[in-house]
Amino acid sequence: MLEKIKVLYVDDEEQNLVSFRANFRKEYDVYTAISADEALNLLQETHIPIIITDQRMPDTTGVEFLEKTLNLYPDCIRLLITGYADIDNVIEAINRGQVSKYIQKPWDWDKLSIAIDNCVTLHTSRLELKLKNVELQKANDELNKFVYSISHDLRSPLTSIMGVINLTKLMPELRVADSYFEMIEGRVLKLDGFIKKILVYYKNSRLEDASDNIRYESLILSIWDNFKNDNIKINFELVDSQKSVFVGDQFRIEIILDNLISNAVKYQNPSNQKQNIKITIDVNEVEANIAVTDNGIGISDEYIDNIFKMFFRAEESMNTDGTGIGLYIVKEAIEKMGGKISVSSTIMAGSSFKISIPNKLIS
Ligand code: ADP
Repeated sequence: MLEKIKVLYVDDEEQNLVSFRANFRKEYDVYTAISADEALNLLQETHIPIIITDQRMPDTTGVEFLEKTLNLYPDCIRLLITGYADIDNVIEAINRGQVSKYIQKPWDWDKLSIAIDNCVTLHTSRLELKLKNVELQKANDELNKFVYSISHDLRSPLTSIMGVINLTKLMPELRVADSYFEMIEGRVLKLDGFIKKILVYYKNSRLEDASDNIRYESLILSIWDNFKNDNIKINFELVDSQKSVFVGDQFRIEIILDNLISNAVKYQNPSNQKQNIKITIDVNEVEANIAVTDNGIGISDEYIDNIFKMFFRAEESMNTDGTGIGLYIVKEAIEKMGGKISVSSTIMAGSSFKISIPNKLIS
């Protein structure tokens, strides 16, 4: 047999308590209390999910009593019974006591019964939602861990393959197969890059927001150092105006800038005589505004709204190596820090990504 749901009714009139009990004892496990104090004692001993109270009581009002239960038992459903003239109390009850329903006095037993039924339904669905959320969170955590461990494990055979490829470079008799080894090396590096991004995504989804002191100019220059030797054709310009100390999450800011700079490099137009990347930094006490602009292949209007989606790649970039996950991670990381990103682009003329990140210096 299903356990009956517990309902508490509080009223200073003994007769009301008796008739309430008589009416509802078959359907519910009814608890009654003659005062707010008695009700609070009862609630301390037993978890009662539905609380119904009269508004007018000698020691305290129903709203004051419900307000007390709010912090102690936030998941309970509250119902107030009040007279016709008490509309102010109803408003107060909704605002202060977070009452889900109110019933006017003198009450009609059928209406009261329907109101309690509704409260029970609300309670059951809240409970189910809570359970589903816990399950969802658990499934999400497990999925994340799974992705992390797979990604981690996949990297070690790749490192071994790279080791063997590097060995072949030392063997003159294998020079004839150079082009094949280069192909293997390229694919292995791409796969490794992709796995690294998945690991970064995992880290971004789990790490708490950190508070580091960020010097944007040196951070960007150190990121550019990783690209500049392979991209000597690109004219790199940095306009720095950091007017304030900036406190933010170094790990996430680095992910964002690294991805934007890497895209600005990757999506250059090879037939351009002058390939440019310009980065402007404007940092004040409130936020950092950074723009990464290139004169590369650009993104057509048709695709621009989709580029922050997971695994999306625009048609015009299909002959360039990419995975379509970088900008998704960028957006996630920016949102984690409460910042914003926008993009403007013209096909075959270039793109400009603008980000703003709140400064945690004052907060
Ligand atoms: P990936 O570069 O690995 O494909 P991203 O998520 O970083 O993935 O970018 C998604 C898509 O957005 C790219 O495939 C490309 O089509 C477009 N894109 C991003 N940055 C630029 C850029 N600076 N210039 C032109 N296209 C870009």
